[in-house]
Amino acid sequence: MSRVFDLHTHSNASDGIFPPAVLIEKASAAGINTLALTDHDTVAGLAAAKIAANKYNITLINGIELSAHWRNKPIHIVGLNINPENDAIINAIVKLNQLREARAVAIGDRLKQVGIHGAYENAKRIAAGGTVTRQHFSTFLIENGYAKNQADAFAQYLANKKPGYVVVDWPGLEETIAQINGACGVAVIAHPLRYKMTATQLCTMIQDFKGLGGQAVEVVTGHTQLAEIRRMADYAKRYDVAASVGSDFHNETTAWNQLGKLATLPSGLRPVWALW
Ligand code: AMP
Ligand code: MN
Ligand code: MN
Ligand code: MN
Repeated sequence: MSRVFDLHTHSNASDGIFPPAVLIEKASAAGINTLALTDHDTVAGLAAAKIAANKYNITLINGIELSAHWRNKPIHIVGLNINPENDAIINAIVKLNQLREARAVAIGDRLKQVGIHGAYENAKRIAAGGTVTRQHFSTFLIENGYAKNQADAFAQYLANKKPGYVVVDWPGLEETIAQINGACGVAVIAHPLRYKMTATQLCTMIQDFKGLGGQAVEVVTGHTQLAEIRRMADYAKRYDVAASVGSDFHNETTAWNQLGKLATLPSGLRPVWALW
């Protein structure tokens, strides 16, 4: 049987819509047989995902998507095949969720200043105990008629320089990679082409990342066009890092990151799964 990978997905332990067991069921129906659950700054969904993965005969890779900074730019680093019980990763999660909680309060305060009340309380309600993300604020803004859809909520309120944007002092790349490696995982740069970096910045980040013990970059992601896949494949070869594939699936309403629709990895790359 051929192996079909998706190494970047979200459940309702962070900002995905489906509980882990439903995500696994949907992944199975979509033909995926190796799936990493990579919720933002939490491993809370992994135990339930594992039970469902056994039922559907899916290989579950324990994962996480950590919020980080590279040269003051917010980026995401996926950790794959981590030990979720390792102290390094547990400490990282505690710290990141303190930062997220303080940011959520600050976003609520900032939105109040433009006349939008109750955003913090409602984002917490929508997150329902999971990691609070800007996506939960976007749901609140849509529900209350402040935005038409998620893209609009970010464009009007939640993106950089907008009224609800709050700068966070995320941990640096060095600390983040050390935490993933400390938990026996592989560090992967998530969706490298979504940071609006120049080519020089992107190449420098990949080199810094590799120098600090990072091992892979996402080459195939949910929204990438063929030209972007080729570009990331070239960087992976040039800087000799492994290549990952992941949809970044959150829900069924965003067309570009559905389960089971990923392009295959171009030949001549070292796949990230060869590292475990
Ligand atoms: P956070 O980690 O709390 O900053 O939230 C980031 C999450 O919000 C991402 O993982 C996406 O799910 C979503 N997101 C970020 N930027 C956008 C955007 N421009 N449009 C739609 N969703 C976005
Ligand atoms: Mn997200
Ligand atoms: Mn991300
Ligand atoms: Mn993600």
